[in-house]
Amino acid sequence: MTVIDVIEPATEKVLASVERATLPELDNVIARAALAQRQWAAESPQRRAEALLAIAAEIQNNSESLAQIEARNVGMPISDARDAVAGAAATFRYYSAAPERLMGHTIPVAGGVDMTFREPIGVVGLITPWNYPLLIAAWKVAPALAAGNAVVLKPAELTPLSALKLQEYARAAGLPEHLFNVVVGPGSSVGRHLIEHPQIGKIAFTGSTEVGKDIARRAADGIKRVTLELGGKSAALVFADADLDAAAEGLTGAVFGNSGQDCCARSRVFVERSALTPFLEKLEKVVSNIVVGDPLADTTQMGPLVSASHAATVGRYVDDAPVLFRGTTPAGPGFWFPPTVLHPISDDHPAAREEIFGPVVSVLAFDDEHEAIERANNTIYGLAGSIWTTNAARSLRVARAMAAGALAVNSYTSVRFSTPFGGFKQSGLGRELGPDALEAYTEVKNVFFNTNAR
Ligand code: NAP
Ligand code: MG
Repeated sequence: MTVIDVIEPATEKVLASVERATLPELDNVIARAALAQRQWAAESPQRRAEALLAIAAEIQNNSESLAQIEARNVGMPISDARDAVAGAAATFRYYSAAPERLMGHTIPVAGGVDMTFREPIGVVGLITPWNYPLLIAAWKVAPALAAGNAVVLKPAELTPLSALKLQEYARAAGLPEHLFNVVVGPGSSVGRHLIEHPQIGKIAFTGSTEVGKDIARRAADGIKRVTLELGGKSAALVFADADLDAAAEGLTGAVFGNSGQDCCARSRVFVERSALTPFLEKLEKVVSNIVVGDPLADTTQMGPLVSASHAATVGRYVDDAPVLFRGTTPAGPGFWFPPTVLHPISDDHPAAREEIFGPVVSVLAFDDEHEAIERANNTIYGLAGSIWTTNAARSLRVARAMAAGALAVNSYTSVRFSTPFGGFKQSGLGRELGPDALEAYTEVKNVFFNTNAR
């Protein structure tokens, strides 16, 4: 048995110690989950719906302690952690309606009746990152259970605490034993074993594009189903007629939120040249006012980065980049990094091209709509994007032209539980949330029924 120390990024101190699962333990978990899954799938849809509602209620009843755990383990401001916990509960509530609505089709055919069923896949493996550990787990666990699957969840080793709590609350809510399991361990061993295990029918992964490619390759051997939510380098297009105050102020959340450790971060902001000077003036005020500090303080807007090594990586991007202005950080321990604005910067600079996953934004000027779209789309990624303009026709035209899965007009919102979320190109494969997620956790079965039989 080995134990890992979980570090609190704002203090650099050990927050908790957690046992790693061994590979034989993982095998046992999967075998028991396979048995539990058969019973779960045979339960009435009403019973499954009630179980999901009960989990939502447990999350809600423990929301403040869960938010504290998430804030301390990730370094996320407590106000954001509270939103994340509320979002996790809302996701379970949303999918509690799914078991009773997993409908198939009846299809006109000769000689009988044809019908389709949405069958569960079996045991699904979920692998999640450290940036929104609880919320991203909920996006996967809730639809997977709703569709009749059992779940083995491997959280990131940096941030396993809220997933372990979720497992505890699911049991307290009366979910059958062995149906929802959390295994802690490194991706390179426990994660890989999960992907390659013959009894795992599907992997749903959120994390880096690099690891996502590796998972897709390994899953291919068993023709396993995969959904991948990967990296991004999302663009905001700010036209001169836009509400520049809203476009600048919104970046507090849209690129500096969770210290930029957000796959949807609008880390490239293209501004129409005639609006560049006023936009940068507004952004400078916004950045200088961002409250960076103790994640547990109600007024904090930005906490530290998740780890020392991640802070070093983010730092390397900025070392030789043109910093126009930046915000502040507290002194003392903690993996702090100030909100940072890069300008003027070439589209080809690594800081403007690669996902930094830190509080760093590149501001780029453009002259016309067509050019802005071309440059925004000139990336391997395609996760999210925003269009800021008061010209309605243009906003829709540009939204249709942008190669990204989650777009917002005059808003930086990327995610709602009731709408599909996922990436174009190397930002992912498949969709989470909304009605679409259920497709990712079911197989379509077609049954022909011969009505001429005696
Ligand atoms: P990561 O290194 O890809 O890790 C994600 C998860 O995969 C962790 O649980 C990790 O385990 C595990 N893992 C690592 N190597 C593995 C392997 N070879 N086989 C199986 N599992 C493996 O990503 P991260 O550093 O945690 O998170 C940052 C990245 O996630 C960013 O690129 C970001 O864009 C992306 N992200 C995307 C979304 C989205 O919805 N599109 C959301 C959030 C984050 P251990 O860390 O425990 O070893
Ligand atoms: Mg990693």
